[in-house]
Amino acid sequence: MQSINSEGDIPAEYKGTPIGLLAQYHNLGKAHASYATAQMLIGMCMDNRKSLSIPDNFAYILRAGGANLRYSEFKVSHAIAVGGVQNIALIGHNQCGMVNLVARKEQFIQGLIDRGGWEPQLAEEQFMHFSPMFEIVNEIDFVLSEVKRLRNRYPKVKVAAMLYKVEDGRLYWIKES
Ligand SMILES: [Zn+2]
Repeated sequence: MQSINSEGDIPAEYKGTPIGLLAQYHNLGKAHASYATAQMLIGMCMDNRKSLSIPDNFAYILRAGGANLRYSEFKVSHAIAVGGVQNIALIGHNQCGMVNLVARKEQFIQGLIDRGGWEPQLAEEQFMHFSPMFEIVNEIDFVLSEVKRLRNRYPKVKVAAMLYKVEDGRLYWIKES
């Protein structure tokens, strides 16, 4: 993880791009410009502990558990093809609930029965069927693999790997080897 505390912390490849601007707006308190159209797509987790400080109209935001965009491909394609964006920031976060889902199996099933009104068998089936699709072993490794996948899928789009730290609410670059 690499912290962003000044403009010098923005890598050359992101300087002057919407990804660099995102870092400036959120971490460096840059004054909000006004935008008529979206400049980029941000993929982030559905987690409630995160909010971004960015101008109105600046970005499309797709939120899904673990910042996993594998099942949101049509929406990603739409943002690029119709929305006109060529920059994506994929933002994972620490303490993500999609890590080690298997440890919360009983809680998931019982919660769905108690609060969702599901039958026990259906609740268990849903967990068993879907948890492998959403499980993330490690937040950082997952974001890196997802960034790699998106770059292969959309070769003309710039994709950055970032992490949101829940404790300080700041964005960090995830170091790529
Ligand atoms: Zn999460």
